[in-house]
Amino acid sequence: MYKTKAYAAGSATSPLASTTITRRDPTEHDVQIEILFCGICHSDLHQVRNQWSNVMPTVYPIVPGHEIVGRVTKVGSAVTKYKSGDLAAVGCMVDSDGTCPQCKAGVEQFCPNMTLTFNSPDKHLGGVTYGGYSDSIVVDERFVLRVPSNLELAGAGPLLCAGVTTYSPMRHWGVTKGKKVGVVGLGGLGHMGVKFAHTFGAHVVVFTTSPNKKEDALRLGADEVVVSRNGDEMKKHAGSFDFILDAVSADHDINTYINLLGRDGNITLVGAPEKPFAVAAFSLLFGRRSLSGSLIGGIPETQEMLDFCGAHNITADVEVIPIQKVNEAYERMLKADVKYRFSVDMASLKSE
Ligand SMILES: [Zn+2]
Ligand SMILES: [Zn+2]
Repeated sequence: MYKTKAYAAGSATSPLASTTITRRDPTEHDVQIEILFCGICHSDLHQVRNQWSNVMPTVYPIVPGHEIVGRVTKVGSAVTKYKSGDLAAVGCMVDSDGTCPQCKAGVEQFCPNMTLTFNSPDKHLGGVTYGGYSDSIVVDERFVLRVPSNLELAGAGPLLCAGVTTYSPMRHWGVTKGKKVGVVGLGGLGHMGVKFAHTFGAHVVVFTTSPNKKEDALRLGADEVVVSRNGDEMKKHAGSFDFILDAVSADHDINTYINLLGRDGNITLVGAPEKPFAVAAFSLLFGRRSLSGSLIGGIPETQEMLDFCGAHNITADVEVIPIQKVNEAYERMLKADVKYRFSVDMASLKSE
């Protein structure tokens, strides 16, 4: 075992602060990574503040962070895919059983024995796993991803969660050239959704509650921007979409968007509003429309997404901050005051 620097929260009400944590020495299948950048995901904040206590109560201290990019510093004797000096990334998962039907299908995110990158039981050291707000991390090579060398690293971090979360459902529901695609909400997730849908060749319509996001949406790749409060504008699009990505975590009326779908159209949720939706059955019956959800992506698809980003030079739009500003960043994230993701420059942790 060895000690490494990290930022942790000691309780649901305390700020994140500098600390030291213990990591395992790499086993024969492990890769040790020096973390260069870690994106800040809204679920970091949810879990730091124990807001998902019903589903996954937070164990303190918590070291969040699952949008990790860095450089390999050491590999175990059985590691074949990585060597010291390689760029590498780690997303939301660090382990799974590898034997269940989900793992065999390459959708480890649905494995009943999957280990999340932070706040998940740690099979090696006991306690819980510690995430990317840290100097280094040790991960089984099966859960380490390759980072295309042309990608700007600060913006590559958020691909590991926000990126694959939006890429995966679009691939699953067949977003391609000629399809009409809606993206609801232009935040960390939505802005990646727009970039992917645009690059897949779809006609992209962004739905937003803030008219001042119009210019930005167009810059990111939208063909049209609709202010969702404007009923007339919404009506113009009735029954016309092949696919809609709903990236809104605040409570909202889903029926409004279901009615914009065409025959066999699908709307997929990637946000998680607190209250259950009231879905009008008739809006699904007419047109054989469907409503579904999606959760990050498996390891093979995450690699496919990173390679796609490399080929098309796609990264997240980020504001780079030192780790010392992380608490301030959380407050700004709550006000949606970031374009569109914070990425922590982990070099700042060295001065702690
Ligand atoms: Zn995330
Ligand atoms: Zn499994």
